[in-house]
Amino acid sequence: MLLSIQDLKVSFRMGKVDGVAQRADAVKGVSFDVPENSIVALVGESGSGKSVTAMSILNLLPDNAERQGRILWQGKDLLQTALPELQTLRGKDIACVFQDPMQSLNPVFTVGAQIVEPLVKHLGLTKKQALARAEELLVEVGMPEPKRRLHAYPHEMSGGQQQRVMIAMALACEPKLLIADEPTTALDVTIQRQILELVGKLKDKHRMSVLFISHDLGVVGEIADHVVVMRHGVIREQGPVAGIFASPQDDYTKALLACRP
Ligand code: ADP
Ligand code: MG
Repeated sequence: MLLSIQDLKVSFRMGKVDGVAQRADAVKGVSFDVPENSIVALVGESGSGKSVTAMSILNLLPDNAERQGRILWQGKDLLQTALPELQTLRGKDIACVFQDPMQSLNPVFTVGAQIVEPLVKHLGLTKKQALARAEELLVEVGMPEPKRRLHAYPHEMSGGQQQRVMIAMALACEPKLLIADEPTTALDVTIQRQILELVGKLKDKHRMSVLFISHDLGVVGEIADHVVVMRHGVIREQGPVAGIFASPQDDYTKALLACRP
């Protein structure tokens, strides 16, 4: 198994009230697997614990978070893995794309420079090779005028183009897993769809897996293999998308699916 999350619990220390330590439980014993070359969608209303679950994987949570359970990456428990090793994993095997492109893009470097950096650092390409590869990646994510964009700065692009750059950066080192946390929420609906369909296509091309957090159940139904339905920090139901969409067993899943446009 590529990634196996087993009985994950996450709580946040919230300071003291009247001398009593306060904690907020965000994730309360969650287990699911992400097999190789598959798309697993995490769905559920806002505040369900989807982002906290995703950010637990590479320990990207704030310092007041406490995690328990096991997060097995190809059998190795990431909860017991030191930060430098996690950082190497993040640059290479596990890529993340979050909601706000400016969380991941550096405003003071050109797009080309940002895509080139991990290619030189992790894959050992020369600068010239890396630039050529960066241009190929921009073509692959459907960026208009890719050659010119290499020299552009993030703020000179639209939100949809910034998302494409983020996906190009995420794919640069051919990760085994892409974690995409509502990567398109800030965009208009047509562009959201284009980008999510692109993620689906790239999955097969690169033989990677995607942990995909979205509230667009239409797209989830089209591109995901497996769906995990969360609410209030627990999993309500999970299984192959076709089965769950055709005959949901859980009342909350039924209600979610009934709201599909
Ligand atoms: P989702 O992504 O499903 O919308 P989140 O995973 O962001 O939900 O949040 C799950 C719960 O954890 C929420 O109740 C949220 O308020 C809480 N939470 C998230 N981050 C923190 C934090 N840094 N400190 C305290 N509580 C947090
Ligand atoms: Mg979230």
